[in-house]
Amino acid sequence: MNRNWLHILRRTTQIFFILLIILAPALDILRIDTDTRSLIVFGHEWSIGLKEGFSVDPSLENASHVAWRFFLKALLPWIIVLSVFPILGALTGRFFCGWFCPEGALFELFDFLTVKIFGRRSLLGKKPNDPGISAQNRAPYVILALLCMIAIPFLMGVALTGYFVNPRTIWGQIMNWEFTFGVKTGIIGVSIYIFISAMIVRHTLCKYVCGAGLMQMLFGWASPLSVRIKTDPAKLAACTDCKGCEKVCFMNVKPRLLRKDINCVNCGECISACKKELGEEKAIFSFSQTRHCGLPGKEITKRPDDDSSLDLNKPMRNGHYEKTCS
Ligand code: SF4
Ligand code: SF4
Repeated sequence: MNRNWLHILRRTTQIFFILLIILAPALDILRIDTDTRSLIVFGHEWSIGLKEGFSVDPSLENASHVAWRFFLKALLPWIIVLSVFPILGALTGRFFCGWFCPEGALFELFDFLTVKIFGRRSLLGKKPNDPGISAQNRAPYVILALLCMIAIPFLMGVALTGYFVNPRTIWGQIMNWEFTFGVKTGIIGVSIYIFISAMIVRHTLCKYVCGAGLMQMLFGWASPLSVRIKTDPAKLAACTDCKGCEKVCFMNVKPRLLRKDINCVNCGECISACKKELGEEKAIFSFSQTRHCGLPGKEITKRPDDDSSLDLNKPMRNGHYEKTCS
């Protein structure tokens, strides 16, 4: 798959998931109706069906029926919901973060705009993996950034409040520009959170705060099966040290290091960058389920034209690496 296809596929999955998160309450796919105090799942009220409980029939048979329904309708859904991210992490590492997470996609959008305006990803200062391009022709990006700063937090505020208040009620209040306390609090609270996280915190939130990310990180780190980026040591001699793979990495990972980096979200941008530099055949990275790192043995740690050991925990120096992988 060439550079654009991997990149386009990822952007498509991100847009699809953002639309799903925004439209789920409006389409009654998932929301809580605070008026009726019920959970709506795919247009139906999710009920344990035990309103009358034991009072109707206190027999042993009915007691086991009540217990079974409680397990199926109350406990099992929570077990499934809570196990989604550990299972995803064990099988795919942080793939969800890189390919689906709406907040991650939003942070990437603001990274893009900040790079175009200031020539670096963060508003707070330069990072080691910044693309290093000079900011030019800023005006259209400044206008776009201002629009995004206003519209996106508000839109997300409305969309996420819709999980707790009927979206039709919210829409009616927006049309009349008259809000109940709950709707106003929901929209303003979510808007402030989205604004601060997208402007200032960004991927630091993914690394240290997000519960879903941390679960994927932990289970992905421990699992021998989880997908990760593999560096092919046999191809390292072709590396031109262009640093393209590092500059595209918004998680500030150095993909050429052979140790696992728990912050990698398996976005595949480094694969694309290396393919662009070296071509499809010589590109160094690929998705893999290798247990530790890409180095299977010591022989292969020697570069063909160089007797030095490879140390991929250090930047490339004088055209070669040092180190072996444990
Ligand atoms: S190392 Fe590669 S796959 Fe991992 S986050 Fe960075 S660019 Fe994405
Ligand atoms: S993109 Fe490929 S060639 Fe360029 S520094 Fe990374 S590994 Fe080397």
